[in-house]
Amino acid sequence: MRIEIATLFPEMCEAVLSESIIGRARSKGAIEVHCHQIRAYTKDRHNRVDDSPFGGGMGMVMQAQPIYDCWRAVQAQSDLPMHTIYLSPKGKVLTQERVKELAAIPRLFLLCGHYEGIDQRVLDKIVDEEISVGDYVVTGGELPAMILTDAVARMCENVLPSSEAYEEESHYNGLLEYPQYTRPEIWEDMAVPSVLLSGHHKNISQWRTEQSQMITRERRPDLWTKWSNK
Ligand code: SAM
Repeated sequence: MRIEIATLFPEMCEAVLSESIIGRARSKGAIEVHCHQIRAYTKDRHNRVDDSPFGGGMGMVMQAQPIYDCWRAVQAQSDLPMHTIYLSPKGKVLTQERVKELAAIPRLFLLCGHYEGIDQRVLDKIVDEEISVGDYVVTGGELPAMILTDAVARMCENVLPSSEAYEEESHYNGLLEYPQYTRPEIWEDMAVPSVLLSGHHKNISQWRTEQSQMITRERRPDLWTKWSNK
């Protein structure tokens, strides 16, 4: 899996994606992530990449030319075709189901907007889909791109120790996960549920299933209805 990230803040993305599980996965070659500076492609003699919106209004809009030239240059760096995603609050909200599908695509190009957004014409020309990380607005596409990259990367082979690591987690099968406990057995007068100390695998598994269903039913009736109707 190869993920290309086009941004005005590549250092911000590198800082996040060099740490922890994703950082280790990159170091051992389980996934490739490349961050590209959109500003490096501007033809403006003052290095500008944005301008005020036609029709008036607040803020600045990222111009089409640097983004299009960046996209074309990155595309030429490999023979793999690119699936281009614009991180946008106007996109479809990301789900674990879509994450699973995206992890099967060999090469993604993630476009991060900033300021008031991006000139619609370049979006119409290069973008395959728009994805949102939720119904709220953040200042730039970088954090949403990090979320998408992290979620997709952990589904790729050799990133987590085994597929079990994510198959039992919240959302994978449409339910939320059961509660987790670790040592000590008693903390602040609160004991770990005794079934988890029993060593009886069938009972533990049954308890976890029941907890998972109960938590989903209580916290996310929307997910519960969807799962029950399957
Ligand atoms: N003016 C835009 C609007 O009202 O739809 C919002 C622009 S936002 C301040 C700047 C950039 O942040 C966007 O171009 C997009 O790339 C990113 N962004 C903001 N919220 C997002 C979200 N919920 N999901 C994904 N990307 C988001």
